[in-house]
Amino acid sequence: MKTIITDNVKRFLELQEKVNNQIDKEGIAESKVADELEEIGDKLSYEEIDSVIELSKSPMTKLEKVLYESPMKDRNYEKHGYGGCICCYKPMKETDCLLVHMNEHWMALNPDFVTEENCFELTGSNSQGWFPIGNDCAKKMKGFVFNPNK
Ligand SMILES: [Zn+2]
Repeated sequence: MKTIITDNVKRFLELQEKVNNQIDKEGIAESKVADELEEIGDKLSYEEIDSVIELSKSPMTKLEKVLYESPMKDRNYEKHGYGGCICCYKPMKETDCLLVHMNEHWMALNPDFVTEENCFELTGSNSQGWFPIGNDCAKKMKGFVFNPNK
């Protein structure tokens, strides 16, 4: 089965996360949020519902991922100093540059879901912005890398 991520799927997952957080913290969800969740739930197609179930199985691992750390990092740091790829400090041409969105817990964020605006709401930590990541290291972070040239 292919997971599809439509606007409604995204919104549904966002709201579900919000409702779960509110229930965790306050024992009850805001009725405005719960109503919108129900409303969007009614609009989902069967395919979208399957995708929501698939993505809900481990929502946090879909939203955040520990950043890959290259074994070459120390060596590159000694050679080139800080800069370039965030995972290995290898210098990069700006044109080759892919980006990874990080929050203040230093977790990489799934660009399909997490934006600078909803970052705190979804991950409990503010956005730190976008950092360059080289092609090789990006392969280790599949699904968490954004290509600005596409
Ligand atoms: Zn790298």
